[in-house]
Amino acid sequence: YFVTFEGGEGAGKTSVLQKVSSRLKQAGYDVVTTREPGGIEIAEKIRNIILDPAHTAMDARTEALLYAAARRQHLVEKVFPALESNKIVLCDRFIDSSLAYQGYARGLGIEEVYQMNQFAIDQAMPDVTLFFDIKPEDGLKRIAANQNREQNRLDLEKLSFHEEVYQAYQLLINRFPDRIKCVDATPVLEEVVDSTYQILQAKIES
Ligand code: C5P
Ligand code: MG
Repeated sequence: YFVTFEGGEGAGKTSVLQKVSSRLKQAGYDVVTTREPGGIEIAEKIRNIILDPAHTAMDARTEALLYAAARRQHLVEKVFPALESNKIVLCDRFIDSSLAYQGYARGLGIEEVYQMNQFAIDQAMPDVTLFFDIKPEDGLKRIAANQNREQNRLDLEKLSFHEEVYQAYQLLINRFPDRIKCVDATPVLEEVVDSTYQILQAKIES
């Protein structure tokens, strides 16, 4: 069962994913957690290239292709084998991030980036995608308050960029209403974890 976590900066995806994973494991499920870009050595290296704050000259198509390359390798090395052995895979970001960030916010076109990614994913769409809903402004405030977070090139983008990302996710929710479920990401962590767990458990058991 392939689950992806999506949303803008500071939505809490990473923290919720870790907590939901422990709960699923306690309930007896076999769970693998991972992230994009990254999750395996080759993809983590590609991640470092993409997100390096020094790489301000990176072209948007180059960026989109690197994300797709990291995605491909991560699927082949980690996600596909886990799904083969019937594990639940919880992945922090996936194709919808590319559609929102590179397709829409960077202006490459959602459709173009979707088509380009088909070559990388080869039909492997998530069974369910959770969108963590928080206003970009509030998400950025959370990030500013979090000292532990690693800096990346996206931190240089203005609020308007993150607002476009948010708009793009709304478009994607309309386009894939059966796959993408919204989770209110504004309450305290435990509450977001509860609602996420409930949605997932219902999906997995159905
Ligand atoms: O998930 P996380 O916040 O760690 O992602 C790292 C960075 O990569 C974020 O700033 C995110 O906005 C950016 N990103 C992106 N395009 C993607 C995936 C991630 O710009 N397709
Ligand atoms: Mg995160």
